[in-house]
Amino acid sequence: MNKPFSKSLVWLRRDLRLHDNTALFNAASQSNSISICFVFDTNILSKLKNKEDQRVDFIYQILQDIKQTLRQHNSDIWIVHGDPIHEIPKLAKSINADAVFVNRDYEKYGVNRDDAVQKKLSGLNKKFESFKDQVLFEADEIVTKNNTHYSVFSPYRNNHLEKLLASGSGINTYKLDDINFEKFTIDKMLTLNDIGFESSNISYFQIATTYQGIQSQINEFQDRLEHYDQTRNFPAIKGVSYLSVHNRFGTISIREIANICLKNYVTSGSKSWLNELIWRDFYFQIIVNFSHVQDGRSFKQQYDNLQYENNESFFESWKQGRTGFPIVDAAMRQLNTTGYMHNRLRMIVASFLTKDLLIDWRWGEEYFKEKLIDFDFSANNGGWQWAASVGCDAQPWFRIFNPLLQSQKFDSDGKFIKKYIPELSAFDKKNIHEPHSKFAPKDYPKPIIDHAIQRQKALKMFEHINHVAKKQH
Ligand SMILES: Cc1cc2nc3c(=O)[nH]c(=O)nc-3n(C[C@H](O)[C@H](O)[C@H](O)COP(=O)(O)OP(=O)(O)OC[C@H]3O[C@@H](n4cnc5c(N)ncnc54)[C@H](O)[C@@H]3O)c2cc1C
Repeated sequence: MNKPFSKSLVWLRRDLRLHDNTALFNAASQSNSISICFVFDTNILSKLKNKEDQRVDFIYQILQDIKQTLRQHNSDIWIVHGDPIHEIPKLAKSINADAVFVNRDYEKYGVNRDDAVQKKLSGLNKKFESFKDQVLFEADEIVTKNNTHYSVFSPYRNNHLEKLLASGSGINTYKLDDINFEKFTIDKMLTLNDIGFESSNISYFQIATTYQGIQSQINEFQDRLEHYDQTRNFPAIKGVSYLSVHNRFGTISIREIANICLKNYVTSGSKSWLNELIWRDFYFQIIVNFSHVQDGRSFKQQYDNLQYENNESFFESWKQGRTGFPIVDAAMRQLNTTGYMHNRLRMIVASFLTKDLLIDWRWGEEYFKEKLIDFDFSANNGGWQWAASVGCDAQPWFRIFNPLLQSQKFDSDGKFIKKYIPELSAFDKKNIHEPHSKFAPKDYPKPIIDHAIQRQKALKMFEHINHVAKKQH
């Protein structure tokens, strides 16, 4: 069969897998031979402060696994270090590829980068082909009856779900053996040192970095999926999937895991987990359809004028897990040591930062960006705006989490707290949530604020803006 392209280059970005990869699937069906590449992007890497960044290490290890798989097919992966706007056209030219295939990105940086690459390729008479892959439905696929975009989750979810149940998740099925990978070998792979980084602690936390390891993690979660809805809010219980890093870097396919839910769509656990995957799509469509949120703006723009106190010493205590509120501190220590934080805790610490410490949500957003191994702009921005009550379909501004009640409800035995705050290991489950109310524990700080007072201040801060906004209308 005549294929339109003789040779194509598949450029992996946040789709670091060879199975169910839409760009690869399409490249293979339209090209006689395929080469795979990845660019360690200097524009991104130069902004990372920590040279032992978990994400760089994660990507590096995954690329090693992909390289090994490609070696089994007598091929290899081109890994380059530089600015993709120069590197991709350069590579396409040097290997004589007719086209570059990618899966689409939705953040402004990625969109602009791809436009620039496409322009350069076109100047070289080469094609640039892009596909939907990292979401189930793209920003313009789920719209209201009047063709407007959703800013409220429930109706978006209903529409999304109806379409998904009708269409199925649409997995691309193909065998790597059937793909004609270009035969070549690269003996020396770039090292982490070559790109200015070092190994991180990810192997200590047993984060899977091979196709086999990741599949085992999916299988292990499938055995727990049925109970997801009952266990997902308790950080001391293994209730959630811990797959977010893989969703972030596309080391799993979103269709593959949505399909698990669709196959089991009778259990409340599956329904509840699919709901979370739909939140993921929801926030992707928000950053595309309401792109001001990508410029540091609140979804509800009147809240850009909120007068936060922005006390730097409070911010330091929050970052270090030394606020004197055990559930907040344990959560922040989990983030600082592992690069992960449980969803319930992300909500608690975000609410605490913005409505108890009265610190701008963007400070917290930035800190998470630096620390989270699963950092994803859309979900992170959406989560912060939700907790700070400035976002679309956010927590109402007058609903302020009480950290003590959250702690008693979601870590009632104090098991999670004790794991990250050994200073409190001697406390029983009754006293651990507010240790200073009984006696002062050694080495553990007193609460830096009074929740009742700060709550009133937060309410006033919002009332003021609501009042101003009302007067202006
Ligand atoms: C303040 C704040 C910041 C957050 N920052 C991020 C972030 O940077 N990256 C990120 O992936 N998630 C973020 N989330 C969402 C959520 O906390 C994580 O996706 C989840 O904790 C990851 O753990 P898991 O894979 O075990 O989740 P599970 O409960 O097993 O969920 C399955 C998958 O669904 C997706 N998901 C779950 N909850 C959400 C959500 N609320 N919004 C969007 N997608 C969701 C994730 O891809 C996740 O892997 C944030 C939430 C808040 C409140």
